[in-house]
Amino acid sequence: MPIRRLPEEIVNQIAAGEVVERPASALRELVENALDAGALRIEVELGRGGKDLLVVSDDGSGIPKDEIPLALERHATSKLESVGDLERIATLGFRGEALPSIASVSRFRILSRAAGEDVGWELQVEGGRKSALTPKPSPPGTRVEVSGLFYNTPARRKFLKTDSTELSQCVDLLGRLALVRPRVGFSLRQGGQALLEAPPTDDPIERAAAVLGKAARGNIFPFLWEGEAAGEPIRWEGLLGSPELLSRTASSIYLFVNSRPIRDRSLAHAVQSAYREVLVERKYPTVALNLSIDPASVDVNIHPTKSEVRFRAPQALYGSLLQALSGALEEAPWSPAARSSRGAEERLPQDLSARQERIEEALASYQARGKPGGGYWGGRGGQAPAAAAALRSQYALESAGEASAPASHGGQVRVPGAAREEGKFFSGLDLVGQFHNEYLLCQDGRALYLIDQHAAHERVLYESLRASALSEGGRKSQMLLVPEVLELSAARALSLLEARGRLARLGFDLDEYGSGAILVRAVPGALSGRPVARLLEDAAGDLSEHGGTQAGERAIEELCARVACHGVVRGPTALSPEQARSLLLQMDSIGFAAHCPHGRPVAREFSLADIERMFKRVL
Ligand code: ADP
Ligand code: MG
Repeated sequence: MPIRRLPEEIVNQIAAGEVVERPASALRELVENALDAGALRIEVELGRGGKDLLVVSDDGSGIPKDEIPLALERHATSKLESVGDLERIATLGFRGEALPSIASVSRFRILSRAAGEDVGWELQVEGGRKSALTPKPSPPGTRVEVSGLFYNTPARRKFLKTDSTELSQCVDLLGRLALVRPRVGFSLRQGGQALLEAPPTDDPIERAAAVLGKAARGNIFPFLWEGEAAGEPIRWEGLLGSPELLSRTASSIYLFVNSRPIRDRSLAHAVQSAYREVLVERKYPTVALNLSIDPASVDVNIHPTKSEVRFRAPQALYGSLLQALSGALEEAPWSPAARSSRGAEERLPQDLSARQERIEEALASYQARGKPGGGYWGGRGGQAPAAAAALRSQYALESAGEASAPASHGGQVRVPGAAREEGKFFSGLDLVGQFHNEYLLCQDGRALYLIDQHAAHERVLYESLRASALSEGGRKSQMLLVPEVLELSAARALSLLEARGRLARLGFDLDEYGSGAILVRAVPGALSGRPVARLLEDAAGDLSEHGGTQAGERAIEELCARVACHGVVRGPTALSPEQARSLLLQMDSIGFAAHCPHGRPVAREFSLADIERMFKRVL
């Protein structure tokens, strides 16, 4: 076959192959156009998940009559003027490809009324043929109607998923765009049913509730961080979900750059890392984050649907996000530290607090007379060294002294309930008993505490591992009788070897073993007899993917969390009172957080008021 220039229709269809994958991607282009046109209201109407019908109406600037045919030409755009513009793109669109591409694979109709015109003008496209412009009454703005998407490319139509899948993709896409633009009103309906209704608002939380569901209202908090990355001013802004809003997939991490929705594995990883301490394994937080950055520092022209971007300084952004989020999460309203400072009275209606006081007084005097702490286990015996040692070996618990060695990391005891004498919270509680050989039951006259002994132990082990990994002192390790060989990619092996010093402080003795292989000679004592290959492989992956010191530290922390997780004996275990007290003492000896390293809560508090409400003594 001789070489020929392709006819325009085929060129457009080829472009459509990249830009328009499914109804949601066509919708994305149309809604982005509306946003670029400054719309404040965007209405979407779908038929069969967008497969049969997709209508987007906006109240934006509109297109002047004589430019409408041009909007449907390839590479025709009002958003770029010079090559320089391409390097600092501030609009969502810029390629001038979307409309002709969509029109080449659908029955297409555009009606637009620009400012200053008193009537709208309509143009239709079918099978590549454009109709003449016809006048039509229309409100100011633009309405694009796409029906029978892929009707003329049956192979592509076959690849579409079920109506409901395509529909949910569309709803998700619109929700994503809506999330960072509370002042713009969005709605999406199909067959008269409203699937997304997000009226304009000044309150980002209202918007989050409209997009993510009502549960977001009490569980999501605004977040703002301004600073620098790689010497450039940047701003992270958005909403952080509490641990109540965990999701099973990473799709709950909404990332934006200059309000453009993007996917970015590295930044999503930073979010995961920052949340690690409150996360349950294999769960994802709900987070919406918008990065404001000089457009010249982002290349948005690397992906056909513009859903991925390239940063000039990705490592610096990773670091800044991690730092910003970690700080914010420490202060988050759901963190036990923040909650305890609010105090119990504040949570009670005013007229009840007097009664609350009386009850507390009565309780205090009762306690003074004869300790109700008796429970099953009687008084509060001291910690017998022999019993503590037994507990250590049975539970592989680290000694309190060792755990608290670098009191540097905070020292702040984050405990449920009001602030108490530092470092003396858990050991100061009365032990009531053990429930189901898995939970410790404690009280202090103001509240009842349920402590998950496994989670607590895991936390203690984690903190002490982390402390030694980040400090100078080494810790006990267990030589392997037969050294284990890990086969990794060269890059991963290298990153593991680079971190060898810190890993050694955790108790790992690693050596080079030819290209891509690592010899494991010793492992942390807590891990003896347990498989370590997976653990180290994961750590190697984390380390190689996210070099940089901060990220490397996170990888080490993650490794500590996994070691702790594997180092804890599971299943019900009867503890003697001495063993239980030893555990409580250990909990006080570390900078305690109320969650295990994988995010399960360690301790739960039931205040007297909570219990009274439970029994309907108060309303
Ligand atoms: P791009 O968005 O990359 O410029 P498109 O093919 O999506 O390319 O659109 C072409 C042009 O049509 C845009 O540059 C814009 O001037 C105009 N346009 C498209 N949709 C709208 C709209 N909803 N409101 C106003 N103008 C629009
Ligand atoms: Mg566009």
